[in-house]
Amino acid sequence: MSSLPLAPNCHISHLLTTKLLKLMNDDVPFFITGKGRKGPWLITCDHARNHVPKAVNNGSLGLAKGDMQRHIAYDLGAEGLSQSLGDLLDGPVLCSNFSRLVIDPNRGEDDPTLLMKLYDSTLIPANRDADCDEHNRRISNYYYPYHKAYSKLATSERAIVAIHSFTPKLRGQLARPWEIGILFGKDRRLADAVILGLKLKGNLVVGENEPYAGHLPGDSIDQHAQSKNRLNILIEVRNDLIKNVDEQNDWARFLAPILQQALLDTRENS
Ligand SMILES: [Zn+2]
Repeated sequence: MSSLPLAPNCHISHLLTTKLLKLMNDDVPFFITGKGRKGPWLITCDHARNHVPKAVNNGSLGLAKGDMQRHIAYDLGAEGLSQSLGDLLDGPVLCSNFSRLVIDPNRGEDDPTLLMKLYDSTLIPANRDADCDEHNRRISNYYYPYHKAYSKLATSERAIVAIHSFTPKLRGQLARPWEIGILFGKDRRLADAVILGLKLKGNLVVGENEPYAGHLPGDSIDQHAQSKNRLNILIEVRNDLIKNVDEQNDWARFLAPILQQALLDTRENS
């Protein structure tokens, strides 16, 4: 479902409109932009937002506002990059509408970090206290609907590009040198072609399965691409490079032709 449209002659004040939309969208688990687009890509953003719905612990996980703005709650800049890529590639864009700290859609159901209790040295109070019922409620209300929507969009005609972002430095660890990371599992057909494209076109520090190694059993790419033999790629961009709309659009304009060429080459060679 896309953003709720307003009637063209609506006279509600902008402030009220924004509040109303927030309220109406509070418990919506995902958004789809460009559902009817015909391009060869599905763009996904598992960690698009830092939203905590009212139904989850009354809209708070017990963290300070500042912590909810950090990378622990969502992938900064990733939603804007995804939307811009969707426009350029003419592909539908699926975004989650709940913080990864509510429940992480990019984990298998059995993964112990599905409901994160501690992340980058920050304790998440409402998750530490969450019981089994709460765990199951979040799976039913957010995780399942997101993946159901994912399944419907992930057809065999579409390659999947999953957009994420990573923090330049985790607390107490070394700075991460990569500007972009390409993650792949067993099926590295598309990843290899994109890595080649990045090396040919850009002067970037490209991480191969960095800053994270490959895919986890049951994560989004595993569920919707690897298990179905669909072409896929997961891209991680360092979040200090996509802080604003201009940077997000610049990155999308840089990545879109590389992705298109990589897909063409991969399909020709398959
Ligand atoms: Zn992510």
